[in-house]
Amino acid sequence: MNPFSYTRAYGLDTAVEEKVDGADFVAGGTNLIDLMKENVTHPQHLIDINHLPLQEIEETESGGIRMGALMRNADTAYHPLVEQRYPLLAQAILAGASPQLRNMATDGGNLMQRTRCYYFYDTATPCNKREPGSGCSAINGFNRIHAILGHSESCIATHPSDMCVALAALDATVHVKSKRGERSIPFLEFHRLPGDTPHLDNTLQADELITAIELPAKGFADHYTYVKIRDRQSYAFALVSVAAALELDGTTITDVRLALGGVAHKPWRDTQAETLLKGKQATRENFQQVAESILANAQGFGHNTFKIELAKRAIVRALLEATQNEHKS
Ligand SMILES: Cc1cc2nc3c(=O)[nH]c(=O)nc-3n(C[C@H](O)[C@H](O)[C@H](O)COP(=O)(O)OP(=O)(O)OC[C@H]3O[C@@H](n4cnc5c(N)ncnc54)[C@H](O)[C@@H]3O)c2cc1C
Ligand code: SF4
Repeated sequence: MNPFSYTRAYGLDTAVEEKVDGADFVAGGTNLIDLMKENVTHPQHLIDINHLPLQEIEETESGGIRMGALMRNADTAYHPLVEQRYPLLAQAILAGASPQLRNMATDGGNLMQRTRCYYFYDTATPCNKREPGSGCSAINGFNRIHAILGHSESCIATHPSDMCVALAALDATVHVKSKRGERSIPFLEFHRLPGDTPHLDNTLQADELITAIELPAKGFADHYTYVKIRDRQSYAFALVSVAAALELDGTTITDVRLALGGVAHKPWRDTQAETLLKGKQATRENFQQVAESILANAQGFGHNTFKIELAKRAIVRALLEATQNEHKS
């Protein structure tokens, strides 16, 4: 491991003051420390943000909730406000990692976790995300877990988070702070597609700290589900996942949200495809139609081509399950 200095921040102003070039925040450390051990990243200075006052969930005036960035993933999933009003988020978080990891990992860190592309972790291979301009080993390599939507010639990596798929469906907002002030980023603009700058995973500026994630009042608590298809039943990242949320008037769909994980460089939400379902009947045929529409421009790279059909089936299954689900609390 490379040498680095370390400080603890006790106030938000101090934390952002210290975030100069070469410095990195550390929260739960479950991704960053792995990347440092693998020599993928080597910050010269770590700012431990675990003592910042960002560990609460509070209700907002508009009827939503604001989750402090340092809420542990487990505490978020089991928080009564999340369980009752945003069960889709709770289900997605609990589909990820393991209990030990969820106890340590924070919500802010979850948004910032990096791809699980094998070549990104293997410093002996070219990777544009790790070393811009070096090439992409995955495009002609073993690309079973890679993207089928939104990829570029520079990078076909996927975003690995489960939590972020639910946050995309629920129209979250990310609140951030820097020395320059505070701003809010709509969730669908937070993560980015790779284009020719795949080393940039998101639109957060280098000197910004995530302070909170806000959810609007609408939580789709009556008809929702998170379907995660993976190689093992637990402790595995998604090959394909689907967050589905519906509002129904009888069997008529009055509102719908669909977000996919494991298929693109960011949680994938196709709002145009969602409109296909609004006002329609909640039937398998209509669900199949929206699945075809979402995957219409999908492209595989050999080992991952199976994901196109898998994603279609996962969408139909998720929508059927969401239709039948009744919130139990
Ligand atoms: C074995 C294993 C299995 C896993 N399985 C899954 C899974 O199935 N599904 C899933 O979704 N995740 C999974 N994870 C990932 C896990 O959820 C993430 O590692 C975790 O959420 C990261 O949070 P953290 O607080 O530990 O972040 P850290 O490791 O502390 O930080 C990660 C990055 O975020 C930055 N950061 C952290 N907080 C902030 C902030 N407030 N503002 C700005 N930047 C910040 C850090 O600077 C760093 O760059 C797995 C991880 C492991 C190790
Ligand atoms: S897919 Fe992206 S992360 Fe993986 S090797 Fe190619 S450039 Fe690197």
